[in-house]
Amino acid sequence: MTYHGNNYLPEGEWNLWRMREVFDCDHVVVRPGVDTLIKMNRIGFRLQGDNNWHAHCGIFTTPIQVAVRYKVPLMMWGEHGFLDLGGMYSLNDYVEFTAKFRLEHALRGYDWDDFTDEGLEKLGRPELKEGLTAKDLLWAQYPSDEEIDAVGVRGVYLGNFVDWDGNYNAKLVMEKYGWRPAQQPFERTYRMFSNLDDMHENGIHDYLKFVKFGYGRGSDHSCKDIRSGKMTREQGIAMVRKYDHVKPRRDLARWLKYVNMSEAEFDETCDTFRDPRVWREENGQWVKDNIWSEPSAYGPVHRRGQSKGGKPEPAPGGPPQGEARLRETEIRPDELMGEQARRYASDVRRLLELKDRFVRVLCPACGVDSPRAAFEKMGFSYVVCTRCETMYVNPRPTSEMLDFYYATSENYAYWNTHIFPASEPVRRGKIFRPRAARLVSICRRHQVKGGTLLEVGAGFGTFCEEVANLKFFDRIIALEPMPALAATCRTKGLEVMEKRIEEASLKGAPANAIASFEVIEHCFDPRQFLASCADLLAPGGLLLLTCPNAKGFDIEILRSLSSAIDTQHLNYFHSSSLSLLVTDAGFDVLEILTPGKLDVELVRKKALSGEFDLSGEPFLMEILLNRWDDLGDSCQQFIADHRLSSHLWLVARKRG
Ligand SMILES: [Zn+2]
Repeated sequence: MTYHGNNYLPEGEWNLWRMREVFDCDHVVVRPGVDTLIKMNRIGFRLQGDNNWHAHCGIFTTPIQVAVRYKVPLMMWGEHGFLDLGGMYSLNDYVEFTAKFRLEHALRGYDWDDFTDEGLEKLGRPELKEGLTAKDLLWAQYPSDEEIDAVGVRGVYLGNFVDWDGNYNAKLVMEKYGWRPAQQPFERTYRMFSNLDDMHENGIHDYLKFVKFGYGRGSDHSCKDIRSGKMTREQGIAMVRKYDHVKPRRDLARWLKYVNMSEAEFDETCDTFRDPRVWREENGQWVKDNIWSEPSAYGPVHRRGQSKGGKPEPAPGGPPQGEARLRETEIRPDELMGEQARRYASDVRRLLELKDRFVRVLCPACGVDSPRAAFEKMGFSYVVCTRCETMYVNPRPTSEMLDFYYATSENYAYWNTHIFPASEPVRRGKIFRPRAARLVSICRRHQVKGGTLLEVGAGFGTFCEEVANLKFFDRIIALEPMPALAATCRTKGLEVMEKRIEEASLKGAPANAIASFEVIEHCFDPRQFLASCADLLAPGGLLLLTCPNAKGFDIEILRSLSSAIDTQHLNYFHSSSLSLLVTDAGFDVLEILTPGKLDVELVRKKALSGEFDLSGEPFLMEILLNRWDDLGDSCQQFIADHRLSSHLWLVARKRG
C-alpha cells in the first residue's frame, strides 16, 4: 500500500513499481489528482510553512482506508519516522500507530477539512482558499472509530522489531533486490537513499525546516551516522556546515514552477515562520548561533509587501534603525508563562496575607490626597488622583514588605532561571541592543560625553552588556539589589553594586548618566527614588526613566485587564505627572517618548482570547481583527509616534 504524492524521483518510481515483482504481492497505490496536490502544496506552505503536509496525511490515512475496505487487521509501516529522527519515545517502547499520533504529530493538529474553503474560512485564513471541497479530499479522510473497530485495525512499525539502521537496510535491498539509490546528489544532504518518494522532501521541505528551526537533513543524517559509529563528531559538523543552510536552487526552481509561485513570495512567506528562539535580525540579515559556537548570518530578511513593487512606505518618523518588529511570545514564551503565572499567584497570596497592615499613601506624583476608586485587581485597590490623574495602588505594602517580597519572590527567581535565559537572544536583539543605541544617541544629543553610567535595577545584566559593547561609557555600574540577579550580573563580568538605591554611594565620583528601566513603578516612594538618583548624578548628568504610561493605549483600553496592571506595579504615571515629579526632584525634563511596540497586539490578544469584549467597539474591531494584516503595524507606529503607547520614556537633566 503506497500513497503517491506525484513527485517521486525516477529512481524511487522504478523501485516502487518493481515491488510487485520482487515480493510477488498486490500493491495498492493511491494517487490523488494533480491539481488537488498542487493546491495542497500551496495551502500547506502558506498556512504552516509545509508544502508536504499532504504526504503525511496520505501516508497516515490511505493505508487505514484500505485496511478498513479490505478488512486487513494489521498494518505495518517501515521505521517510525518521527521516532527514528527525534520523538519522545524509544524504538524499544513498541509505540503503535494511533489516530491521535496521526492528527497531533504527523498532521500537527490540522486535518483535511482545514484545507477546504470552508475550513480556511473557519481558520481565519480565507485568502488561502483554493476551491478544495470534501470530494477532492476523499483520500485524506480518516475512517470512523466504528469502521476501524469492526475490523480491529492496528498499526505497528517494522523498526520496532528489527534493529533499524538505514545505512544497513539500504545496502541490504541494493544487494538482494537491485534497489536503486538516488543517481544525482541532493543539494541539502549527502545521504543518497532517503526520501526518493518525493523530490522536494530533501529540498524545499527540508529547507523550510532550516528556516523554522535552524537545522536540516545535514544535521539529521550526520546525527544518525555519528550514533551508529559511521562518522566522527567533527565529520558530522563538517556536514552540517556544508549542507544545513543551502537554499536548494534546482529544487526550488522546479517547485516554484509546479505551484506557480514567485521566489519573492516564497522568501517572504518563509520569513513569517522563523522561530525567534533560533533567529535574530542583525543589519537586515537573519543571524543564528551555530553548533561550532560562533554565530553566522544566513541571508537577508524579506519584508512582506516588498515583492509587490518597490520598497514599503517608511512610516513617518519610523523606528530607529536596527529596531526589529517584536512579538509578545518572543519575550514571554507561552510554554513558560503557565509556571510563571502559578509562581506569581503564590507570591501575591503571600503578600495579601499582610493586607491589613498595608498603608495609605498620598498621590505619588503631586502629593495630594484626593483619590477616587478606579478598580480592584487580584485583591489590590487602584485609585486615580483627581488632581493629576496618576493611578496608584492605595493602600499599599510597606517598603519593608516589598523588600521581603522581592527577596523571596518565586516569580523573580523563575524569571532569572528560566524566562530570561530562554528569551535572552530575542530580548538582546530586539530590546536591549536598540535600547542601548537609543540611550547613547540621547546622551550625544544632550552633550553627555561618556563617563560613568549607572543602571538602576540591572536585572539579568543584558542592557549593561549591550551598552558596554558600544564603548561609549568609560565605566558602567549595574545596581541590582536582588541577590540572584546580582549574581547573574557578576557572572557576566559586570561591575555590580548589590544594594538598594537608597543605600548606594559613588564616593565623590558621581555618575554622568543614570538609566532605570521599569523600576519606578515598583517603588513604594518614587519621590525618594528620584532623590537618590539625583544624589548619585553629577550636576548636568542625564536621567533616563522608563515605566508604564497610564494614558497609553493598552492601559486606557484594557484597564484592569491590561497586563501592565500588575500588583508589583504600584505607580502608574503619565507624561505630565511623571514630568511634574521629576521636576520637583531637581531635574529639567528634556524629552518624553513612547516607543512602545506591543500595545495593539496586547489588546488584540485579549480580544481574541475572549477576555476583552470588542463587540461594542466596531472601530477597534476593524483595526485589530478585520484589517489587522494591513493596519496593525501602522496603528502601533502611530500610537508610538504620538505619545500614546503604554511604554513611556522620560529624559531629564539634573539642574545645578
Ligand atoms: Zn496627583
